[in-house]
Amino acid sequence: MTAPAVPETAYVAPRTVAEAVAAAATPGAAVVGGGTVLMPQRSRGELDPAVLVDLFGVTELSRVTATPEAVLVGATVTYAALQRIAEPAVPLLPRLCAGITGGPQIRAQGTLGGSACYANPASDVPTALVALRASMRLEGPSGSRSVPAAEFFRGPHLTDLHPGELLCGIDIARGAPARWGYVKLKASESSWPLLTAGARLDPATGTVDVTVGGAAGVPVTVTLPWSGRDRVSTEDRLLLDDRLTEAVDTWWEDVLADARYRRRVAAVVAARAVEAAIATDGS
Ligand SMILES: Cc1cc2nc3c(=O)[nH]c(=O)nc-3n(C[C@H](O)[C@H](O)[C@H](O)COP(=O)(O)OP(=O)(O)OC[C@H]3O[C@@H](n4cnc5c(N)ncnc54)[C@H](O)[C@@H]3O)c2cc1C
Repeated sequence: MTAPAVPETAYVAPRTVAEAVAAAATPGAAVVGGGTVLMPQRSRGELDPAVLVDLFGVTELSRVTATPEAVLVGATVTYAALQRIAEPAVPLLPRLCAGITGGPQIRAQGTLGGSACYANPASDVPTALVALRASMRLEGPSGSRSVPAAEFFRGPHLTDLHPGELLCGIDIARGAPARWGYVKLKASESSWPLLTAGARLDPATGTVDVTVGGAAGVPVTVTLPWSGRDRVSTEDRLLLDDRLTEAVDTWWEDVLADARYRRRVAAVVAARAVEAAIATDGS
């Protein structure tokens, strides 16, 4: 008896964004950032791409570029590289990257762009990018466009990427000085996050914005008045709870935690992020 033929997967390693866009437009193509999600999916038989388009050789996607107005983080910049950047315009990211579960292997291989495109509701990256008011630079067969992170995440594992489009970079504007806090809740030391929260305390406007991931299918942001208080009061916690209840249509659930649990603890995690912002200088 002859064994069934195993479908072959072509491998393409473009050197430029134009080559990568052309390759990604090939029918059945799958783009590889670090491959830490995609390759296990392929091994489990959940994906059977005709072509793997490996972005590793596109050097312009692996750079962090600072200008007076903004910092552009290329899509294939790894967690490990971001951990090392000392750029005040990009708060949250170094701290977040240092806390990615999975150890040095995942931090050295996983990319900011790959995590954004995977759009796991409970992941760290979507929450942080929405909290930072980042913009996603997309490049595809129809040209370039820029989409605010808050609009890029469309649902669980669903983004605004059109077929054949690549995420090329993430712009983070240098905003007014603010104090930042970031926390995540995990089931155990080795678990993925259950809930994540990034807080931006803006002394100029007297408000605090808290973006919470893992509560809904996409990150949600709520705003509270904040006038110089140095602790989170019971009233603040109740207000956070009310605002999150208003903001979330359907509570997210996955194998790690059900919707009821997330509903109960979301405001606690959000309050901890505000406490972290109060306690730090925002770096
Ligand atoms: C053991 C382990 C622990 C982890 N712990 C955490 C954690 O604590 N917190 C957390 O948030 N995450 C965690 N993760 C998830 C981790 O963040 C992701 O594995 C990683 O960021 C995905 O990045 P990647 O570059 O490997 O993506 P890939 O696997 O390369 O790609 C993921 C998806 O995005 C697409 N894609 C990739 N790059 C692009 C691009 N530039 N344009 C268009 N599409 C693209 C791919 O086609 C694929 O569909 C963990 C993962 C593992 C395996």
